[in-house]
Amino acid sequence: MTKPYAIGIDLGGTNLRAALVSRDFEVVKKLKEPSSGLAAGGDVIRLMKAAIDELMSPEVEGIGIGVAGVLERGESRITISPNIPPLNGYSFNDLAYPVPVYVENDANSAALGEARAGAGRNFKNFVLMTLGTGIGGGIIYGGELLKVAAEVGHMSIAADGKKCFCGNNGCLEIFASARAIIAAVVEALEGGAESILRECCQGKIYRITPEDVYKAAFGEGDILSREVLKEAGRYLGVGIANIINIMSPEAVILAGGLVGSWNIYVDEAIKEASKRSFKSLFQGVSIIPASLGDEAGAVGAASLVFNEGK
Ligand SMILES: [Zn+2]
Repeated sequence: MTKPYAIGIDLGGTNLRAALVSRDFEVVKKLKEPSSGLAAGGDVIRLMKAAIDELMSPEVEGIGIGVAGVLERGESRITISPNIPPLNGYSFNDLAYPVPVYVENDANSAALGEARAGAGRNFKNFVLMTLGTGIGGGIIYGGELLKVAAEVGHMSIAADGKKCFCGNNGCLEIFASARAIIAAVVEALEGGAESILRECCQGKIYRITPEDVYKAAFGEGDILSREVLKEAGRYLGVGIANIINIMSPEAVILAGGLVGSWNIYVDEAIKEASKRSFKSLFQGVSIIPASLGDEAGAVGAASLVFNEGK
């Protein structure tokens, strides 16, 4: 007998989100706990177990976990988690629960969430890009999650570009993420550039957030902020063009904090992607925002349970 609910966990470097999700992908109950600053792997796992215990009931079919990092799928092991280093090498097979546990990468889980209950519902083939501190990705092909790394943020864009956190040079993420936008703003201010951002954060330029940059760009028409967002958007467009030329998806769905800056950053990305991708492929693709917001990862993780149970 199939049970009506699944628990979905979205374990990111900043927050742990957990949700009790019904078979029609409705979030019945949800929890959020900060996960940043947890020193040991055991602490992260304890936090996750506490959330699972709170949502667990005899009505739960299984647990899906979306986690930031690269997976060794057969072993449910995290090979490397740049944003949650304590989980490097951890195997989720060590969790002892009376129900099945499925593990996926967090951006892959978010793609599955958008496919089942969000902006991806009407597409059989799409690529989700999560645009935040870093850049992640997930691929839906033929209506199902493609169980591959899909690390779109680490596609090489510039052979001799700046060093990325992954150790490579010139990754998309180092040019187009929130971290990249802040680094570019700080570098320009240190170099003496004029900007209203100097008045931000009591003059402490290292505290400037991506939100401050959007506000300055939109509200104040700050030229530096607009230029930095445009430049990051241009690189994002290079990455999107690569995705379009390789995958010819029906849609590229954009999620994460930076999508709030659609009018400059994403507009520029679309313009650049249109110049660089094959015309016939570009004409067939919708570049649209995700619709589930912060819930996508947990809903998608829960969907792993229903998917496997089909
Ligand atoms: Zn990289």
